[in-house]
This record gives sequence, structure tokens and C-alpha cells, in this order.
Amino acid sequence: MSMCAICRRATEAGLHACPRHTAELRAWLAELPGQARLLEAEFLAPASAPAQGRIGGTGRATAPVPVDLRVVTLLGPGHADVLGADDDGTVPIRAWLGAWAGYLAYTYPAVTRDPYGTAHVQPCDQAWPRHHETITGYCVWLTRYLPYAAAHPWVGDLHRQLEALIDRVRDLTHAVPHRHPQGAPCPRCQAFALVAVDGQLGITCDSCGHHLDIDTYAAHAEAFLHTHQTTAGDATPAAAPPHTAHERTNPMPRVTVRVLLLLGDQAEIVADVPPAERAEPVRYPAADVAAAAGVPVADLPGRRLTAEVGDDDQLSGWRVA
Ligand SMILES: [Zn+2]
Ligand SMILES: [Zn+2]
Repeated sequence: MSMCAICRRATEAGLHACPRHTAELRAWLAELPGQARLLEAEFLAPASAPAQGRIGGTGRATAPVPVDLRVVTLLGPGHADVLGADDDGTVPIRAWLGAWAGYLAYTYPAVTRDPYGTAHVQPCDQAWPRHHETITGYCVWLTRYLPYAAAHPWVGDLHRQLEALIDRVRDLTHAVPHRHPQGAPCPRCQAFALVAVDGQLGITCDSCGHHLDIDTYAAHAEAFLHTHQTTAGDATPAAAPPHTAHERTNPMPRVTVRVLLLLGDQAEIVADVPPAERAEPVRYPAADVAAAAGVPVADLPGRRLTAEVGDDDQLSGWRVA
């Protein structure tokens, strides 16, 4: 059994990323070019148009740096070592993408056959995205090779680093994809934690990580809605949604009864049905019944009450009906 390098859940044989995390990688690669454009537009605006509040009033004698140096680094040239330990600093986006593209291209096996029919496997030069060395070009290229990346354990590194990068960029642009909570519960863990995220294919459970594609969710939601409506329309208390957890955990059925009269310290109780259908009255200590129902003993005669029916047909838990 293969395991997702990110969440450690079981994946399809031969894969090291589950559908959820593959979808997340795809979404981030789709989001990154737009985020980079936002960075450029917001932070690298021409110096002739300084952002409001940047001029005057600071009390400083020196001119403030007109641009955010973190953004300059993110958008600037540079190099990145994808499998090196040093990935907690600010890495230029394009250099980081280029490093990963280079790594994939180098490890991507190109199978060629020599004139004798023998297969040779060697690093594939053609995989390198020579003519697309822009952020968008790299993102498109990496997306195309995601199925290949998902088949290798280092997809975990790719995910961790891309998550850190996208977090850093979102932190600067304040542009975060919207999350849309879904109405039906998770088919695996039953939690109401299914969420669709803008730009991500499919729907993911925040609670257990279960991932559904849109069609599967649509069928599930329809089935859930159907069951829910059928259940809600049913008048029997057992099938209706319970009002409180207390009532649900109490399995004793309740009956409606009437207090006929008091005989000494006993109350004569009959089922709340027309007199012709009544069985013999049953006697219970009047003081107990009155105390449980919260009424004076003198008020019991003629009163309608509900009571729980125990296993031995004994009534208890009196309440005013
Ligand atoms: Zn996963
Ligand atoms: Zn779940």
C-alpha cells in the first residue's frame, strides 16, 4: 500500500500524493501566476506614484525604501536549491519554479531504443521548459508533470515548499481563495466539514481529509437531501430528528395518561383513552406522581400526564401533558 507523503493516508498503489493533495498542488500552481502579478502591481508600482501614507508624517530624515524588499526578492532573479535544507528564507518565485522544473526534467526518464531494440532509460533533456522561463510558463509545465511528481516520495518536499511560498505571497497580497462550506456531511466521517476552495478541483473534508470530485459530491448531496427530507417529513418520533441529545439517549417510550381520582395516598391512573376502552386503573403513590409532575397532590385528579413506560410496564418520570 502506498502512502501520501503529505498526510500519510493510503493512496493508490505507486502514488505518493493522495487526490486531495494532488488537487491542492494543482490549485497552487494555478494560483501562483496571478499572485505574482498582484505582487508586481501592488508593490512594484512606479516610484512617481507612491502609495498613500508613504510620504510625509513619518518624522524620519531619510527617505523610506520605496518598495518592499521581500517583494523584490520574491520577484527578482536568483537561484534555489530544491532539495537543499535552505528553504526557509525568501526564495525568488521564478528561481524556485525553475529549480523544480530542472529537477523533474533531470529525473524524468526518457526511454529510447537503440537499433538493436534495447531500451535505454536516461534523463530527459527535452522535458526542460526552455522556452517558458516565466512564472506562468513554469507553472503550466509543472502542472503537466504533476502526475509524474505524484509518483515520487519527493512530492512531499514540493508540496511543503510550495505551501510555504504561496503562504508568503498571500501574506503580502492579502488575496486568499474563498472557502465554501458544503451542506452535506462527509460520507466517510459524517462531520459537516466538507469545503470547496476556489481554484481547487473537488471537495475536501476538513475533518478527515476525505476528497471527492464534484460529480461524486453532487450525487452524495442529492442522496443526503433526499434522505433528510424523507426523514423530516415522517411524523413518528423515532424517525424525526431528535430535539435534544437527552431525548435521543433516552430510549424509554412515553405514554399519555389521566389521573382519575385519589384514593387515600394513591392516585388512580388510566390510559388517556375514551372510558369504554380503559383497562383497570393502576395505583401509584400520589405524592410521588405530584412531585415528579411538579403540581400539588390536590390538583392531580382529572389531570393529563405523560409517563415513561419501563420494561416491567411500570410508569415513572411523570410530567404534565
Ligand atoms: Zn494527502
Ligand atoms: Zn470526513
